[in-house]
Amino acid sequence: MKSIGIYIHIPFCQKKCLYCDFNSYSGKGHLITDYVEGLRREIQLHRETFEDYEAGSIYIGGGTPSILSGKELETVMTALREGIRIASDAEITMEANPGTLSRSKLSAYFNAGVNRLSMGLQACQEELLRGLGRIHSYRDFVTNLEDARSVGFRNINADLMFALPGQRLEDWQSSLMQLTALEIPHISAYSLIWEAGTAFEGLREKNLLKPIEEDIELEMFHAARGLLQKKGYSYYEISNYAKPGFECKHNIVYWKNQCYIGLGAGAHSYFNNKRYHNQETIEAYLSCINEEKSPIKNILAVSKNDEISETMFLGLRLIDGMAVEEFKNRFGVTPLDIYPAVIPKLQRDGLIIYDNKRIVLTTKGVDLANIVFQELLL
Ligand code: SF4
Repeated sequence: MKSIGIYIHIPFCQKKCLYCDFNSYSGKGHLITDYVEGLRREIQLHRETFEDYEAGSIYIGGGTPSILSGKELETVMTALREGIRIASDAEITMEANPGTLSRSKLSAYFNAGVNRLSMGLQACQEELLRGLGRIHSYRDFVTNLEDARSVGFRNINADLMFALPGQRLEDWQSSLMQLTALEIPHISAYSLIWEAGTAFEGLREKNLLKPIEEDIELEMFHAARGLLQKKGYSYYEISNYAKPGFECKHNIVYWKNQCYIGLGAGAHSYFNNKRYHNQETIEAYLSCINEEKSPIKNILAVSKNDEISETMFLGLRLIDGMAVEEFKNRFGVTPLDIYPAVIPKLQRDGLIIYDNKRIVLTTKGVDLANIVFQELLL
């Protein structure tokens, strides 16, 4: 039985955050009931594929999955259990946003089988939260966290963002300190990306918002690494920190370029050497489901070269890098056979270490990861 990751996309949000370019929509709450039914039917459409697999991890992401009521989440989980074998030790994550949570909802999610909560906090300062267009306060987050723990959640992540307009290094350090004081076992620390089409990008074009300087951004990146490691977190992926045993299993599926199936509007899948992409909008997705058609919009065959490049740069995001033997088992050759000029050059530049056992980014390589990844494109 092969293991696979399952991703379920819940594209609803109460309000669109100003920096967000995810496939998420506000003002469409009236479609939630139909959407949950759509997911149930899409799971059934995959029945034959699912027969060969066991779900090692399930990730319910968004959007704002915690917009679902306990009952709606339970319907999705029941459909999954009926559709695919779920490993007894499967990690089942749900993203949850403060402002949409309550103790009773959290209890229903936990009882439905969710065993990992990923909370979208982003910052601990009210002014920064308002600037991002978030719907919650830091106090809401702390209350939700207490409630989550009281109903049984232990495996909890908090997302934080740095390089925000108006954010000072001290704000960033203080956010990190507050989360460590709350003993959150997993922290994701991402820098703000100014995406085209977002409200933030529009404000930047009009000179109403200004990105922070690059050297401060780098200082913030380094501050997270120094501070969290000192507090006992292992730095296991470019943007992720965990207390021992709390690394995210589902995201490791992506970083190891392994198979996963995505369900829901705009979800991506990767299996049988193909990438699949579902209809983006909720309406287009539901219209396929209602006509009993597959919601898959695009299928892209992944060439051997693409698979190698992707395996390399996803694998190098992990701070432990990649075992040369694992690469050889997958492709029949070593990374050095594929990159006879690039690997020695990256070594000379001090960006990677390659010792016939593992290939890993150096500390300098982590800072300049995008340059390394470009070099590895075949
Ligand atoms: S809650 Fe998340 S998905 Fe929804 S708008 Fe904000 S950033 Fe985007």
